[in-house]
Amino acid sequence: PARPVFAGELPRGLQTISNIVAVSSCKGGVGKSTIAVNLAYTLAGMGARVGIFDADVYGPSLPTMVSPENRLLEMNPEKRTIIPTEYLGVKLVSFGFAGQGRAVMRGPMVSGVINQLLTTAEWGELDYLVIDMPPGTGDIQLTLCQIVPLTAAVIVTTPQKLAFIDVAKGVRMFSKLKVPCVAVVENMCHFDADGKRYYPFGKGSGSQVVQQFGIPHLFELPIRPTLSSSGDTGMPEVVADPQGEVAKTFQNLGVCI
Ligand code: ADP
Repeated sequence: PARPVFAGELPRGLQTISNIVAVSSCKGGVGKSTIAVNLAYTLAGMGARVGIFDADVYGPSLPTMVSPENRLLEMNPEKRTIIPTEYLGVKLVSFGFAGQGRAVMRGPMVSGVINQLLTTAEWGELDYLVIDMPPGTGDIQLTLCQIVPLTAAVIVTTPQKLAFIDVAKGVRMFSKLKVPCVAVVENMCHFDADGKRYYPFGKGSGSQVVQQFGIPHLFELPIRPTLSSSGDTGMPEVVADPQGEVAKTFQNLGVCI
């Protein structure tokens, strides 16, 4: 998609990136990072040059979800830039690779750290940068969206009724910033056991999301132990099982970005 009109000056580090995609959720723990990482590796599997920016400085999950050989970001002291680490050809930047523990910072500091990590990284030529947004739609998220000219947003939610309010907040934030929400991913929709399908959070909310918010695509992901364990072992599910059902869903999502 065409880059939306962006008010600020494009930071130098981002000038060589064609598409910047935000993966966002209103709450933590709904699977946003899992989806961001699997989406990025799906795009890479389709032949694109991809980077992942983990913008969650309070609880960075990228370091547990991928296993790069080099787990520390390096600096280029002359250029004063950060060199992303890499795993299976995807460039990675996360506060969790900065050699510090969890952040204890106030909002404006967080925004400063995110801005610096993101814009001083040597991303090089990328087709897609996938940003794993911090959960929520507050100041930190807004500031981030103003620094970065996003081309698309993917909203992650779970199927409870309450999640509607969350999706609405996310859609509103992105539409204010003129960023198209290309898809909603309803995660942890169902699981199969004893030959039966169970919907622990209810069902049917998906089509309502599409109608109410005019989002062009909706994807459902089941509760799958492998999605969780692959997150913990450092190899994304779409890499571990590229022909599987989950990988197919991500390929369909990748096509709409
Ligand atoms: P968030 O980024 O929204 O906080 P995470 O991606 O870190 O969420 O996921 C939270 C936890 O749920 C992780 O342990 C992850 O492995 C697990 N998880 C996410 N999606 C699924 C799924 N569809 N099936 C099983 N476990 C999942």
